[in-house]
Amino acid sequence: MKQAIIRVEHLTKQYEHFEAVKDISFTVYEGEIFGLLGPNGAGKSTTLEIIETLRPKTSGSVWVNGFNLDEQPNEIKKIIGVQLQASGYFPGLNLVELIELFGGLYNQKVDAKALLASVNLEDKAKAKYKQLSGGQKQRFSIATTLINSPKIIFLDEPTTGLDPQARRNLWDLILDIRKKGTTVIITTHYMDEAEILCDRVAIIDSGKIIAIDSPTQLIDNLVATGFERPKQVKNANLEDVFIHLTGYSLREM
Ligand code: ADP
Ligand code: MG
Repeated sequence: MKQAIIRVEHLTKQYEHFEAVKDISFTVYEGEIFGLLGPNGAGKSTTLEIIETLRPKTSGSVWVNGFNLDEQPNEIKKIIGVQLQASGYFPGLNLVELIELFGGLYNQKVDAKALLASVNLEDKAKAKYKQLSGGQKQRFSIATTLINSPKIIFLDEPTTGLDPQARRNLWDLILDIRKKGTTVIITTHYMDEAEILCDRVAIIDSGKIIAIDSPTQLIDNLVATGFERPKQVKNANLEDVFIHLTGYSLREM
């Protein structure tokens, strides 16, 4: 039996005169990778930040691991991991020091070296955040979500702007985190990525959920309507060419 870990019911968010989230309801199951997909401005980040307790909602109900958002936000904070914006990283500190600092904020003893190793950054322990490549920055910020051994992590566009190798490397990391039992909620604009990573996706447009299912089921539903790609595509695409020519290995080490 699939166990719900997040329940969102009739959630709305009004920014002054603009309704960014319009009465959405969905469930995330324990142990799944759940994708929120949608064009810019659809309301993905707003929805995530409300669930993360970082942004007030206008109406509706949210439960995380059985805790009601209105009644026990602090209990929710303890069991989730959220990526910080880059500006949250003190420039003077190296990666180990930053992780130890965050551990202190969570009141948690943390093996910074082991945590860095788990995201393949053991060689960068003494580096400053600003010295990292784009992919390394993302891996570091994912490491910071894991400091409090959360049940759920939230990743808002973690692969935007990364090169194809770094993107694949991050997919492996995310799959690895899920394999250890952590539920993952992710937003992305890359549909190939959503198809590979996500057990289920919600497609959100102008603040409303317009579809929610597994990627395979959504594709089958479309095909069942008679949809066909206008032209048979080739057996490879330019990204395949790029990876074939340049390889899978990361370039940033
Ligand atoms: P997404 O993450 O899907 O791109 P957001 O949740 O960031 O979308 O934004 C949804 C809509 O709400 C957008 O139209 C955005 O301009 C608006 N919005 C986001 N934050 C605020 C804010 N603090 N004040 C007013 N409008 C906002
Ligand atoms: Mg966003």
